[in-house]
Parts: sequence; structure tokens; C-alpha cells
Amino acid sequence: MPEQKKLDDLFLDTLKDMYYAEKHIAKTLPKLAKAAQSAELKAGFEHHLEETENQIERLEQVFDLLGKPARGKTCDAILGLIEEGKSIMDEFKDTPALDAGLVSTAQAVEHYEIARYGTLKTWAQQLGMPEAVRLLDANLREEVATDKKLTQLAEMDANRQAA
Ligand code: FE
Ligand code: FE
Ligand code: FE
Repeated sequence: MPEQKKLDDLFLDTLKDMYYAEKHIAKTLPKLAKAAQSAELKAGFEHHLEETENQIERLEQVFDLLGKPARGKTCDAILGLIEEGKSIMDEFKDTPALDAGLVSTAQAVEHYEIARYGTLKTWAQQLGMPEAVRLLDANLREEVATDKKLTQLAEMDANRQAA
């Protein structure tokens, strides 16, 4: 029989996935802010960069709770989503649809993060780690709030274009 991997192994693995993803997102947000046409969207990306830096610190605290070094593990999902975002930035550069494309990219990223943090929080509960639950929930709430704000920005952008 192969070596039995358990929920705590899966938890650590997924934590590494998110650590990698958040670091990659922190590198990408300044590019999105630079590309954004509307001042509101630009400010939104800049604000989420600050939040992302705090999220990375919270993940480091979860690694600490596990007594493990904070290490990332390549997240192919986030690489793919950001690759798509880059194509949109190239293909819709200098067009009125650019911001809508940037918002759609950002929302795909937020939804991935929401899925992952929801799962990690549930596993932390099952593993009896209340402090990790608190930290992961703080990240989850910021991603949910960001997603809502992006929806509002998308609606504002659509109204502006329709005017
Ligand atoms: Fe995040
Ligand atoms: Fe991943
Ligand atoms: Fe996020």
C-alpha cells in the first residue's frame, strides 16, 4: 500500500499553493493598476495590493502554527489565470473594453482565492486549529469584499460606456 497521506498533508500542500498564488498576485497587481484606465479601478488594485501583502503575512503565521517553513508550491491555476489576463491586456490595449477585461481577470483570480480559502478554513476547523481558522477567514473576507467591489466597478464602467 502507498504511504498514507492525510488531511494535514493536504492542508499544508494547499497552504503552499496559496502562498505561491498570493506572492504571484502581489507581483501582478501593480501591472493591473498601471494598465487600468479608470482612477477607481487603479485605486482598487492598489488597495488590494496592500491587503495581499497582509494576506501573505497571515499565511506565514499559519505556517508558523504548523511549525513549518513558509514555502510556495507552483499554482498552475493562478499562472493560467494571469496568463489570460496578460493576453487581454495586450489584445485590448487602448480600447474602451480594457477595464472590463481587467475586472474579469481580477474576478477570476478572486474566485479562485475564495474557493481555496473556503476549503482551507474548513480543513483548519476539522484539524482543530482555531487560530488558523481566524487567519484564513480574515483572508477569505478580504477576497469576498474585493470581488463585490469589482462587481460594482464593472457596473460603473458599463454605465459610463453606455452614457
Ligand atoms: Fe489574496
Ligand atoms: Fe493552485
Ligand atoms: Fe485577492
